[in-house]
Formats: sequence, structure tokens, C-alpha cells
Amino acid sequence: MLPHGCEPAMVIVCGERIEAVVGHGESFSGEVMDVGEMVVMPGLVDTHVHINEPGRTTWEGFETATKAAAAGGVTTLVDMPLNSSPVTTTADALAVKRAASVGKCFVDVGFHGGLIHGNAGRMTELCDAGVLGMKAFLVHSGIDEFPAAVESDLLEAMKVLSQRGVPLLAHAEVDWTPPDVLPNEDPRSYARYVATRPPVWEIQAIEMLIRLSEETGCWVHVVHLATEKPLPMLVAARKRGVKITVETCPHYLFFTAEEIPDGGTQYKCAPPIRAAETREGLWKGLLNGAIDMIASDHSPCPPEMKLLDVGNFGKAWGGICSLQLGLGIVWTQGEKRGVCVEQIAEWMSGFPAKLAGLKQKGAIAAGKDADLVVWDLAGAATIKGDELHHRHKVTPYEGETLHGLVRKTFLRGQLIAQDGVVMSPPTGKLLSGRSNA
Ligand code: ZN
Repeated sequence: MLPHGCEPAMVIVCGERIEAVVGHGESFSGEVMDVGEMVVMPGLVDTHVHINEPGRTTWEGFETATKAAAAGGVTTLVDMPLNSSPVTTTADALAVKRAASVGKCFVDVGFHGGLIHGNAGRMTELCDAGVLGMKAFLVHSGIDEFPAAVESDLLEAMKVLSQRGVPLLAHAEVDWTPPDVLPNEDPRSYARYVATRPPVWEIQAIEMLIRLSEETGCWVHVVHLATEKPLPMLVAARKRGVKITVETCPHYLFFTAEEIPDGGTQYKCAPPIRAAETREGLWKGLLNGAIDMIASDHSPCPPEMKLLDVGNFGKAWGGICSLQLGLGIVWTQGEKRGVCVEQIAEWMSGFPAKLAGLKQKGAIAAGKDADLVVWDLAGAATIKGDELHHRHKVTPYEGETLHGLVRKTFLRGQLIAQDGVVMSPPTGKLLSGRSNA
């Protein structure tokens, strides 16, 4: 899988870098690994992962998360500023997080900083400290120590981020239009949960973000889009020069509200998984370029916080773990819709590398890091949570059959995982600063 398309080829790796890409079968004097008909793609770059260490390491930690990443073909991930404790909203907190990660990372790891109400004055120190993006919520984040930014916080921060070339990553939901009518009063009802977070929350947030981006010139990246409704507005804004990009997540591309049982809180996330027509709208958005990329939003918690015994959607923690499974999830649904491997490489590696400002990642080309994933398009596996490397094993993908098996993962030239088994010590590097900033 080369930048211009898929073709038989030989990737020559020297040390940690790709030295050259030459025609398949050309003579070469070094050690050769022939992967037959399997696809060699740039290692996946996942820019939306909640590792939660330090402070909530019982939810997920660097060791388990990055092992899962390695097994799933993710060679670079970027950690979100929450739900660790402290949250990454100061340079000191970032230093604490970096220290907690040392010696535990099986893949390369970068960090986003956090914009919260009242800390816009810290954008410069966080950029200087090497964050790759700045995350903000426009609605309650789920934890009280990461309060939502209000418009004045966003405006002040975006002026600085614009100058620094660091994107603002926004959880684009606002709750200023509470729904009047809910389908029922049963907290186990999935239909009720979906109705409590309507698409208009996403639409209104994105309207505001477009306006603020236009005013400040700041690159805004909308995380985890869960409705296709704002796409025409996003496309129109981009046409008039607004720097706004958008991701969706594997769970919005795989599940539909119609399939989610009442009480099935393993499916709870925010914004919620919506109806089948929304899933189709998101796929269409990816295929026509309105949506730029896919990130996991891997957001674990201990199983008891999912309240699976009572199935209360109002009280259960919202978050779905899929760090190890992204490629199979996207391919399983994508192949039904005519998706090709080139598109997956762009959505899950090429574009995310640009978002994170990592010039050495995201493509198989001379001079890039030799981060490679070898996968078997025709292979399939039935998911068992117990076999995943994630700290906790609850997953809505339990029992689902996913197509496309990750066979080998290479990080900077070194084989780090094979057939789900992590093969190397933790050799991941901590990435600091955008290479294009
Ligand atoms: Zn998230």
C-alpha cells in the first residue's frame, strides 16, 4: 500500500527507517520477508485514545493499551488529556503523565493537552511542552476535573493555537436545547438514551466551531462525529476556506441503534450510536471525502462502572474499547460498501498522522519510520473479550466475526506483534511536538 495505490512491491528497511520502495522481485542482497498475497500497510495512527494513567490506571494503563495497539496494527497512538488524574491541562501534569508512561509503551505515544474552563492562558506552555493537539469539551466531559470550555475560553485559546499550528480537537455536543419529549421513562431503554442526546446538539456545536475557526484561523478537528447531518455544513465551510476536519469512530460505522438491546450498556458512548440510516450517512461521508478519518475513541472503565447488571443507560459510564479491533471493524463493514485498502490506509493512518503533525508516520515511503502492518484481508476471527489485551474485557464486539486479520506489526523496523501476540519489550518512544509546527 504505497501513497499512490496498491501494487506488488518490496519495502527496504534499514534500521528504523524505510530506505526505499522498489519493484517486487528486484534483486536485493539483505534478509527478505515475503508476505505473499497479504497487504502491507503503514502502521495505523490512532489519535483518540484514553489511557487514563496515572490516576485512573485501574481503567486502562500504558502497558495494556499499547499492547492492544501493537496487536491491532496501531503503531502510533495519541493519548487524550482525560481521564487520567491529573488531567493534562498544565505542562506539569503532562510531565507527570510522561513520567508514568516511561518503560511501558509498546508503540509510539504522543499526547494531547486539554483546554478547560479557565485554562486558556496555559495554551502556550502546553504547546511548548510538546502536545500534538488540544482537546476541549463543549458539554460535561464525564469527570468534574475537566470542565467544559465556554465560548470565551475557546476564543482566547484558539488565537494562540492558530499561531502555533496546533489543532483544537472538540467534543462537539452542546446541551443548550434539552429535548422536550422522551420516548419513555425507562432508564434501561436504548431509544430513550439516544433521544437524550439528539443530533441537534452536534449540529449546534459544529455551527459554533465553524464560526470560531473562521474568526481565529484555528484548525478545528471535530472528534467522534455520530451523525451525518452536519456534513453539508462542514463541506460548505471548507469550501470557503475554513480549516475544519472531522473523524468518526468504528462503533458508529459498525453498530446501529436498532440492534442495541435495552439494558445493553456495553454499547453506551457519547454521542450515542444512532439508527441504521445514520450509519449509512457516515459511510457515505467517508466515501465522498466529507469525513476525513477514523479514530477509535478507546475509552475504557472498570466493568462495574458499565452497570451491566442493571443496564441503566443514564448512570453507566459511556465509552467503548476498540483499540485492538479497529482495522477488522472498519474492513468488515467497509468491504460490503466497496471500500478499498487505499481508503482505509488514508482514514486510519495517512490523515491521522497529518492531524497529529507526525511527518515521519502515516505512509510507506523512503525516509519514513518503518511502521508497518501486515494483514490478511481474507482472514476472519470471532471476537472474545477475554483474548484482548485491553485491561478490561467487556466489549460490545463480543461474539462478532470480524474480517481482516492483523498478522504482523512492525514498529520502526522491529517486529512487535504477530497473530495477536506481543513479541518485543516496550520499545515505544514518547513523541513530543508536531514536526510541522
Ligand atoms: Zn474520547
